[in-house]
Amino acid sequence: MLAIRNLHKSFGGNQAVRNLSFELKAGEMLALIGPNGAGKSTCFNLLNGQLKPDRGTVRLDGALISGLKPQRIAEQGLARTFQIAATFASMTVIQNIQMAMAAHHKRVFSFWRPLPHYYYAEAMALLQQLDLQHLADSASSQLAYGDVKRLELGVALASEPRVLLMDEPTAGMATAERRALMRLVQELVRRRGMSVLFTEHSMDVVFECADRVLVMARGELIAQGAVADIRAHPEVQKAYFGSGSSFSGLLRG
Ligand code: ADP
Ligand code: MG
Repeated sequence: MLAIRNLHKSFGGNQAVRNLSFELKAGEMLALIGPNGAGKSTCFNLLNGQLKPDRGTVRLDGALISGLKPQRIAEQGLARTFQIAATFASMTVIQNIQMAMAAHHKRVFSFWRPLPHYYYAEAMALLQQLDLQHLADSASSQLAYGDVKRLELGVALASEPRVLLMDEPTAGMATAERRALMRLVQELVRRRGMSVLFTEHSMDVVFECADRVLVMARGELIAQGAVADIRAHPEVQKAYFGSGSSFSGLLRG
């Protein structure tokens, strides 16, 4: 679904992403792990067009998307979860989903009038899948943290993407909550036949939810494979040593 070939990105003399090549298969949950500064977020920004690669290509289902603007890449079916911005926090939960659906279908409506019934039924159906239906009419700014994260997922799913990028979707959550959110992602994307690339600091969650794992360090891919192989990989083992179950701050240097 995604084919990344020899991607490079430098910031001044800092080679944030070096010669990165990998594939994301149809229907796959692919985890990208590595310590802070490894180049994971830069990789996401290159894939969705927020950054232009110095070299290399990205193909979405065969079509070249590297070099396109983020909006065009999104239109081709590659979505990314974003934090709900302040303006959207003032809207209700269901309005956020309705807005995202309307934007996806390029329907224009007036912001100063009450949001009409555009996509109401569709939005409610999605909220049900996210277990947010009871909060449909709550202000997004009033939500508990875990509910915000589910809403952010919903906004991304509203555009019915083929590929979803999630950079630290569970940041700031406790392990049990992380697991629950990623299991929900797994269930929803399986149902839709989508592909997902995600970063996650909890190795327990990665090993439980990913089909395959990529390991980055210092801008490079240092390992990739099935969960069992990655778990046994020497560098990953080294990262674990004495550290509990987190990658943060390890493999650095
Ligand atoms: P990760 O997400 O794995 O923590 P990042 O992709 O954020 O890593 O960062 C990789 C490297 O690129 C780091 O050294 C970081 O300081 C640098 N970097 C990231 N974004 C920028 C930027 N916009 N300008 C300059 N340097 C950046
Ligand atoms: Mg990052």
